Amino acid sequence: MRPIHHAMLSTAVGGAAWGLTGEPWDIPVAVGAGVLIDAEHRVDQIWYFYLRRRPAAILALHGWEWLAALAVASAVLAFPWWLVATTLGYGSHIASDHRFNEPTRRRYSFSYRAFRGLRVEHFSNRWRIERPLDAFINELSFVGRERNRGHRSDT
Ligand SMILES: [Zn+2]
Repeated sequence: MRPIHHAMLSTAVGGAAWGLTGEPWDIPVAVGAGVLIDAEHRVDQIWYFYLRRRPAAILALHGWEWLAALAVASAVLAFPWWLVATTLGYGSHIASDHRFNEPTRRRYSFSYRAFRGLRVEHFSNRWRIERPLDAFINELSFVGRERNRGHRSDT
């Protein structure tokens, strides 16, 4: 899933959290948790392109285990608004990645992947490591296409 989609989804989730808790900071916290997690893709890019290692899907923050840990921590701490927003933002990211990146069920388990050596082919058949500059340009052109598509449908 593209960062712009994660941003839109986590904004909606943060808005719902704001409606439940009355805390407007739920939105930026949920967006932070729902978008910034993908910054860890830079680790895979550095690993592969700059350190010239075998392609890997390290993705230490992409795992259902962390969502379960956040949910348990929220319950133990009596659901503080910031942890609820973080859990919802993170959960929206993992759930949408799981849906659209089409891994098998266990591949969004960090411990499952770690047990198999974090090899990229064990993560998803559709997953490709993009060069950092290519990924950035693709994201900009994707946003531009979406914007143009919006203009066409508006007219
Ligand atoms: Zn992701």
